[in-house]
Amino acid sequence: MDFFFCLPILFGCKTTVKPDGDQIPRVCPRCNNAAVISAKSRDWFEICFVPLIPMSSKHIWTCSICQWSMRVEAGGWEPTPVGQAGPPPAGYYPPNWQQAHYPPANQYQYQPQTPSYGPPQVQQQVPKY
Ligand SMILES: [Zn+2]
Repeated sequence: MDFFFCLPILFGCKTTVKPDGDQIPRVCPRCNNAAVISAKSRDWFEICFVPLIPMSSKHIWTCSICQWSMRVEAGGWEPTPVGQAGPPPAGYYPPNWQQAHYPPANQYQYQPQTPSYGPPQVQQQVPKY
């Protein structure tokens, strides 16, 4: 004797991001705004749009302005805290102050290895008379 209940159950996954850790604003490497905070990203298994079962979670850096995000790696690169970068004393801007807003070291940036498409080899075609 079998009963089958055909209920419209909707499954899905949802990712929530909550601020986590020190909420020191950091400089975003993409948009250079001090809007990067550390957060915890957690995937939820949801049924009928209700997140029920917590799944994997990870710590991320996320920018609230441009939505840039990066996984926090222990001992890895992290965005520059605003407190270390400035602000400079009022009325005085040292020439190298902007260096604090440079993008991070390129060791964690994805650099596509595209083959160099140089100009085509122009062959000197000597017209024959
Ligand atoms: Zn940003």
